[in-house]
Amino acid sequence: MTRTRSKPKGTALPAGYNPAAELAKMRRKYDHKCEWCGKEFRGINVALFCSNACRQANKYSKQKAKIAAMVPPTEKAPAKVAVDSKKPATRTRRKTRRRAGNS
Ligand SMILES: [Zn+2]
Repeated sequence: MTRTRSKPKGTALPAGYNPAAELAKMRRKYDHKCEWCGKEFRGINVALFCSNACRQANKYSKQKAKIAAMVPPTEKAPAKVAVDSKKPATRTRRKTRRRAGNS
């Protein structure tokens, strides 16, 4: 079986023409203040940072805080290992569910 082409032949766009970029240019721009460096910049309505560098720095700082808050696995693991192995493990029987019905 042959895979279907995403674009039929003969409809290729001219080189260097990106319709998505043309549409992106048409988006309305707003004045913002960068959340990381505080710089004033113009961007689309959802923009939070002036540059990708600020965006990455913000994300990295969040990751660092997350890692610092994490408890290392060596401290988390219980130090007590010796458990009474003589006692046989008793299984508790599960209570059977009563059927809901008219009595
Ligand atoms: Zn910035």
